[in-house]
Amino acid sequence: MSNSESRKLAELAKRRGFFLPSNEIYGGAAGFYTYGPEGAALKRHLEDAWRDRFTVKEGNQEIEAPTIMPEAVFEASGHLDTFDDMLVECAECGASHRADHLIEDNTKIEDAEALEITDVEELIREHELVCPACGAALADEPVSDFNLMFETTIGPGSGQSGYMRPETAQGIFVEFPQLAEYARNQLPFGVTQIGPAYRNEISPRRGVIRVREFTQAELELFINPERNGPDLSQVADVELTLYPIENQREEGSEYVEKTVREAVEDGTIASDWVAYYLGIAQGWYERVGVDMDRFRFRQHLPGERAHYASDCWDAESELGGDWVEIAGFAYRGDYDLSKHAEYSGQEFTVFEPYDEPITAERATVDPDMSYLGPEFASKAGEIADALETLAERDRAAFEGETVAVEIEDGAYEIPTEKTGFSVEEVTESGEHITPHVIEPSFGVGRTLYTLVAHAYGEDEVEGEERTYLSLAPEMAPTTVGVFPLMDRDGLGDRAREIAGELREAGLEVAYDDSGNIGRRYRRQDEVGTPFCVTVDYESQENETVTLRERDSTAQIRVPTADLTELLTDFRNGVRSFDEVRGGYEELSESPANPAE
Ligand code: AMP
Repeated sequence: MSNSESRKLAELAKRRGFFLPSNEIYGGAAGFYTYGPEGAALKRHLEDAWRDRFTVKEGNQEIEAPTIMPEAVFEASGHLDTFDDMLVECAECGASHRADHLIEDNTKIEDAEALEITDVEELIREHELVCPACGAALADEPVSDFNLMFETTIGPGSGQSGYMRPETAQGIFVEFPQLAEYARNQLPFGVTQIGPAYRNEISPRRGVIRVREFTQAELELFINPERNGPDLSQVADVELTLYPIENQREEGSEYVEKTVREAVEDGTIASDWVAYYLGIAQGWYERVGVDMDRFRFRQHLPGERAHYASDCWDAESELGGDWVEIAGFAYRGDYDLSKHAEYSGQEFTVFEPYDEPITAERATVDPDMSYLGPEFASKAGEIADALETLAERDRAAFEGETVAVEIEDGAYEIPTEKTGFSVEEVTESGEHITPHVIEPSFGVGRTLYTLVAHAYGEDEVEGEERTYLSLAPEMAPTTVGVFPLMDRDGLGDRAREIAGELREAGLEVAYDDSGNIGRRYRRQDEVGTPFCVTVDYESQENETVTLRERDSTAQIRVPTADLTELLTDFRNGVRSFDEVRGGYEELSESPANPAE
């Protein structure tokens, strides 16, 4: 990110209460941020919009699981073993760095995360990389795997080992058997969760972009891959900006613009479900105010992809010249549920009835243990199991006088008559399947940062420079600023009354009677308040007020009685200021300042 952009945003974010580094009175701890009043409101609106789109409109169910989970969860999920980043420490100053980031920042290699440790060490030597903090050579420093999970102890004493969850998803997967019950065991069904995740990042950076505690909004959709496809007609014509693997590998090759339908038909996106969610996400990002000229979906390179994920795309936003991942979309197959089934010994399947019951032949055995026992002693059980597996796999093996079976310590010949081999007709009404999972996973903080960065603007109004955030009305921390021209002659009382009525109607209102009107407008512009209402002397004569729109700074004269409905519609996206402004008297200049 260009330094000047990130500095300006960090300065604005701290000064106006969007976000600020936490605990600074005690020197702080890198990677932790507090959302101030404006940021917390923006975050709440963003989460509400996500919930509306990915939970409510999709017909999914939201849950809330604990953020600390016992070690067994992460043994099963693989996080204990593999949730690592590559660490290199500077012997000179002690600073820790992500070795793969050093390589990416200083060479042309783009996915250094996929490299082996020895290759990374070699590259550090070859490119003579130095510590970004102090400039000392890193050539002789070892690179090691560093697990990103925060460990804790559950209960007193040595207790039970636990971890802060590194993603919200595991809280959904571990409850799958119960969640399937709640969904009446009918696939497909989706479960969402919005909440904190914790990663002990080696080098937190760029404000809220890479932090050690952050909020995720995740959806886990459980499907029967044989039967459940998405309703692509809903998103078929949505235009996506895609950056597929081939284009990433070609020097100078740019993005491709394709509709969801085209991308599915020509195989650019392998999974219909992933394509469906990219379409839904594209519309959602537009709605919340991401600048779609600074946005793309990038396909994971093979080395970046988890081994079990067959198709993965990231949503990325451009921030001061760099592309930053703000969400991931993955087809995860049955990996998660199979792992938890294996480690917990519980059932992670759903019974899927066939359209019609199916009658099939099944080969079984019923070994004569009174023969196998004396004959093979401690091996008898193993031989019986091997016979059963063989019957399922290869009926022809039972056609001769004897059957050859292999167990761990060798091969044995068993008289066929002692195996109790038979072929039966069985009617089955369905089968137990382990559902597959599609996961759209959003970072709330990174999306919020994107909204602020993409909304940031500077211009000149009435001869004065102003800074503004053109946030979507649905997202803006405050929908409307209400000002009396001055707090005199009943103007303040009337403005407070109007502010009260708007609050009563559920709008977020800032009341401000200090300083000149221009300065009050600019205070609101800077935190992205899309509308301001000014009460003046004319208001007392004819019950109208001035309504000003932030981006255009256009002002119209509106009956006070219309205000609540207009502002509510603007916030909900039902109507826009531009659509209504023609119906009202337009003013050419700001109300006179009290001091003037
Ligand atoms: P992942 O599970 O790594 O694909 O992460 C899912 C999403 O969480 C990413 O797309 C990011 O938006 C967000 N995220 C991951 N790590 C961090 C972090 N250290 N700080 C802030 N957001 C993060």
